[in-house]
Amino acid sequence: MNTQAHETRRLLAVFAHPDDETFICGGTLAKYASEGVEITLVSATKGDMGRRMGNPPYLNRETMAAAREQELREACDCLGIGELIFFGIRDKTVEFEDEESLTGRIEALIREIGPDVVLTFHERYGGHPDHCAIGKAATAAFRRSASKGALYFITFGDAMEHPKRYGYTRKDVIKVDVGAHLEAKLAAFRAHRCQTEIDEWVWLADDEALSRFGDYEYFLKGDPDAPQRAGDDLF
Ligand SMILES: [Zn+2]
Repeated sequence: MNTQAHETRRLLAVFAHPDDETFICGGTLAKYASEGVEITLVSATKGDMGRRMGNPPYLNRETMAAAREQELREACDCLGIGELIFFGIRDKTVEFEDEESLTGRIEALIREIGPDVVLTFHERYGGHPDHCAIGKAATAAFRRSASKGALYFITFGDAMEHPKRYGYTRKDVIKVDVGAHLEAKLAAFRAHRCQTEIDEWVWLADDEALSRFGDYEYFLKGDPDAPQRAGDDLF
């Protein structure tokens, strides 16, 4: 037990689209929620420009935002995310937002919530312009807020089994064991129905679908000079 055992631990995740939380780090969010961590999720957009419209397609540009909002709310229930905030930015336009005002909104949230852990995208390795833009703003906001917490960047799959390819070393990587939380992750995948219907494996029998998930999710430390923490825990 650490010295914070009697205090509520808080995690703030700042992402771009409904499904980022589930597809990229759903196991980790479910794990910490199950341990009593209070989680707030920011989704900058409602994913209204997504190319997947259901299978067979049943959504259109007008109905997509509401459908994806509802799906994200269900996914949050599956994962144990207690608070969901939308920034109301149009999908695929986060990079064109005024950077100062976006950073300011996130900074205000960090000051209000006082998170122990902030998760966001790496501004270069985000994999999508919206991801990189929200990650850049959240990183700037974290630094400006002088938060006592720790910043981590989410990463894709097991890419960080080989951190040297990205200019990092093993000690920059936190490897979280999510093996006990894959059912929650699968339920959240299924909650994002219009995005996952086309992925047949998601809808296989539970055992078979669960076998497609890795047992670990990987995070990069946002501050390489921060005091060394355990390599398998964000807190
Ligand atoms: Zn995304």
